[in-house]
Amino acid sequence: MEKLILKIEGMSCASCAMNVEKALKKVKGVENAVVNLASEKALITFNPKDFSEKDAFEAVEKAGYKALYEKSSKKDDSDEFLEKVKKAKQKMIYAWAITIPLSFIMFVHMFFNIEFKYHTLINLILSFPVIFIIGIDPIKSAIKALIHKNTNMDVLIFFGVTSSYLTGILNLFGQKIADYSGVGAMITGFYLIGQYLESKAKGRASEEIKKLLNLSPKKANLVKEDGSIEIIDIDFVKVSDILLVKPSEQIPTDSVIIEGTTSVDESMITGESLPVPKSINDTVIGGTINQLGTIKIKVTQIGENTVLSKISKLVEDAQSTKVPVQAFADRVISIFVPSIIIIAILTFIVWFLFPSDLHKLNFWAKDFLPWINPNLNTISAAIYASVATLVIACPCALGLATPTALMVGLGLGASKGILIRSGEALERAKDIDVVVFDKTGTITDKELYVTDIVSNIDKEEFIKIVASLESYSEHPIGIAINKFAKDNNISKIDFQSVKVIPGLGVEGYLDNKKIIVGSPKFIEDATGIKDIEKSKFKGKTLAIAYEEERGLLGIIALSFKIKPNAKEAIDQIKKMGIKTIMLTGDNEETARYVASQVEIDEYFANLLPQDKIMHIKRLQEMGYVVAMVGDGINDAPSLKQSDVGISIGTGTDIAKEASNITLMTDDLTNVAKSIKLSIATFKKIKQNLFWAFFYNIIAIPFAALGMLHPVIAEAAMATSSVFVVTNSIRLRNFKI
Ligand code: ADP
Ligand code: MG
Repeated sequence: MEKLILKIEGMSCASCAMNVEKALKKVKGVENAVVNLASEKALITFNPKDFSEKDAFEAVEKAGYKALYEKSSKKDDSDEFLEKVKKAKQKMIYAWAITIPLSFIMFVHMFFNIEFKYHTLINLILSFPVIFIIGIDPIKSAIKALIHKNTNMDVLIFFGVTSSYLTGILNLFGQKIADYSGVGAMITGFYLIGQYLESKAKGRASEEIKKLLNLSPKKANLVKEDGSIEIIDIDFVKVSDILLVKPSEQIPTDSVIIEGTTSVDESMITGESLPVPKSINDTVIGGTINQLGTIKIKVTQIGENTVLSKISKLVEDAQSTKVPVQAFADRVISIFVPSIIIIAILTFIVWFLFPSDLHKLNFWAKDFLPWINPNLNTISAAIYASVATLVIACPCALGLATPTALMVGLGLGASKGILIRSGEALERAKDIDVVVFDKTGTITDKELYVTDIVSNIDKEEFIKIVASLESYSEHPIGIAINKFAKDNNISKIDFQSVKVIPGLGVEGYLDNKKIIVGSPKFIEDATGIKDIEKSKFKGKTLAIAYEEERGLLGIIALSFKIKPNAKEAIDQIKKMGIKTIMLTGDNEETARYVASQVEIDEYFANLLPQDKIMHIKRLQEMGYVVAMVGDGINDAPSLKQSDVGISIGTGTDIAKEASNITLMTDDLTNVAKSIKLSIATFKKIKQNLFWAFFYNIIAIPFAALGMLHPVIAEAAMATSSVFVVTNSIRLRNFKI
């Protein structure tokens, strides 16, 4: 499956987004398509065998919208945003420049019953440019949708304003109908205010992400072959270039230090507030800030492959995913507009069926609802009520409820080193009952230290054999043993047919003799030996070596440190009412020791990767929602099995596909934070959906009974959109 992101133009509401989505899903080869209204992007997953981009473009075009390739330069994006806000503002100002005098005429007429000469004609002339020139966009979009036999929310505005305008024309030609053309202009005016505020707020909702992108440096000091230094544009930096980074400068791009020592402020990427000490061979991330030392670095990644680009790509992709609750809103949207049109028509008819009852009701209500004019004739009152119904029912805010909250929540997480990779994970996280932890590299530090060596053969030969075989494994045990060998200047030899067995150890052939290194359980099971002397290495991790011919070669004991705040992190999770469990492949004694140190609720030892999966499955079968925290080394399968896989990283390795949440640092306190952030974001989404929805549902009966002024209805609609977006933005104050 491959992915393609397209920019979609011309979408004004949630139903537009759905129309585009539907059209794209029908294209040959498309597996899935998700359209995000707030960012105006479509994320298409497709099978490259059958898919043609041309088909996708045509499908969007056919649905009445426009598809463009996404611009690669992010800067253009924010310029585009500003441009849109500017345009929306202009339209709003022009519209009100005409609508204010127009409403003055209307009010004077309404409250003092003073009528200007040519009253209706003036109204019609003034309203025309507001509705049909400045405010033409929703009308165009509605007509397009209707031509394609679709409906969208603009269809409601369209019917609302055009029927208002029509009353003016009928009035002019002597029909006994109140002239609502000015009302049409005011509806457009409020619609445009809403659009303006919305476009501004959308920009603010994506600010957190923009902050991240603005981190990317523009210049670099290139060290040339003759040792001289040239300042070059970041776009000209190549992999393997040598760059100089002075104190308080930004690291231009992902690199490795080749000269000098320093510390680097990585908070903007990892959320880690303390500067991280760095020396030769350490990696540095583009966008982070060098502190006091001067360093020379060799470029390892540029452009799209840098950590910074990957993060923003990841967050962008996540924003385009669907939050499952949205599916419900989508279903409603798809039947909403047609139903409202039917309700508006029924309203009109009912006014003719029961004119006297409804007039009586309005007489009664006029005392506390000053905008009611009970003296309207039936046809005018019917139009008034139908227009108000059309306008108040527009569920415009519905399309913004989820994407804006996602933008802010995911952006906020990213700025703290918490990458929530999908809306689904976010929704799932609120239900977590159990958090399962891996031990090595998760609760304990990734680094292990060789402390004891007991060997039955020459000690140096023993270390040489074990380290050589372990060099094929990337397990922390292998890395520690290799470091030990290197520190003691012990050389290495080549093995044949090496097999790494996750959670157990490594096996390979040396001079046609099979040698295995691994956990006590592994050796015992593989050889039948039962009396391995392991009790004297209490609380340590053991790697035992066995050779076919000579039998047991020896034992290497390794110690590790429990992460300083592991206990605190586990405590935070327990306080949220969530059960904590440690699953480890290590031996029982070591597991018990670690479990008691961090006060975890339960632990299970001697587990193979498939046993860990079994444990998670068992918990799931008991009805628990299980989160799994691991470092991604041989625990990817259990991360996948869990409901929410949380992988902890080192800041540079974020491409771990198995997880739903990726933490940039290996700080375990981020686990509770990411769950809390997910819960907070989801809560916002629910609030937003509520506000977007119930507004309409509650107001529709009032509108139908003629008790809601159409202009107030539109103002209320515009407010609800703005309210929803602002509510999402308030998530930025969430303390993580
Ligand atoms: P954890 O569950 O604590 O993360 P693993 O599943 O990675 O541990 O490994 C479980 C046990 O298997 C280790 O404690 C060790 O005894 C053994 N083991 C795994 N990989 C290796 C290896 N490369 N060399 C030696 N022993 C290993
Ligand atoms: Mg592990």
